[in-house]
Amino acid sequence: MKYIGAHVSAAGGVDQAVIRAHELEATAFALFTKNQRQWRAAPLSTEVISAFRSACERFNYQPEQILPHDSFLINLGHPEAEALEKSRAAFIDELQRCEQLGLTLLNFHPGSHLNQLDEAQCLQRIAESINIALDKTQGVTAVIENTAGQGTNLGFRFEQLAAIIDGVEDKSRVGVCIDTCHAFAGGYDLRTEEDCVATFAEFERIVGFNYLRGMHLNDAKSAFASRVDRHHSLGEGNIGKTVFSWLMKDARFDGIPLILETIQPAIWQDEIAWLKSQQKSA
Ligand SMILES: [Zn+2]
Ligand SMILES: [Zn+2]
Repeated sequence: MKYIGAHVSAAGGVDQAVIRAHELEATAFALFTKNQRQWRAAPLSTEVISAFRSACERFNYQPEQILPHDSFLINLGHPEAEALEKSRAAFIDELQRCEQLGLTLLNFHPGSHLNQLDEAQCLQRIAESINIALDKTQGVTAVIENTAGQGTNLGFRFEQLAAIIDGVEDKSRVGVCIDTCHAFAGGYDLRTEEDCVATFAEFERIVGFNYLRGMHLNDAKSAFASRVDRHHSLGEGNIGKTVFSWLMKDARFDGIPLILETIQPAIWQDEIAWLKSQQKSA
């Protein structure tokens, strides 16, 4: 069973995101549980929590179909002590918000070395940040997203994802989300079926499908291996539609949220319908 949806707006409250997903006829969705560009947020009220939970029940969304994304400000590999502390505290708060909403996954970007740490040190620091956060929370899996490798962002090579997982003590609560635009910009080709087979064989060898907890389905405005993060609508960018059709027919992508972060919300409903249509008919 494929769970297909988009990263919907939570404007007006997180419960509104559930309704927006339902309106798209989505079987999965992503959301921010707080403003993603601010450090501080009011705690979730009991009213909002129960409105979210009852909307999920009403529209049939289970926790495994929902992939919350954390704030863009958080850098779990920050080279400076004070900023690292701030990021770690904010990440714990994000995990706790997921706990309150009954969610089991939290998608985040690993971190950036800001040219002040070497790669191995930064990856180790990110793993340590995850260990601290998992120790203080329960029931939520930390889902590391591969990046495009823009600037000093780490996590664009599968080896870097594997190194972080290697440093996490509780392997049952760490996973990865692969963003197709980021992978392509990071140097993993996905333009033909042969490219898809080779890229995901490499993913299996270096990370392993047992860690795959979600996918972000985005075409790329950016060029192959450009290390530039620019999403595009499916079939309109440099990757093309082949990979998305291919993914829909591969059972290794069953049972996890497959989330559009494409740039035209007005066509999400059509993109979701098209993805559904690409599944192998039973
Ligand atoms: Zn992301
Ligand atoms: Zn993404």
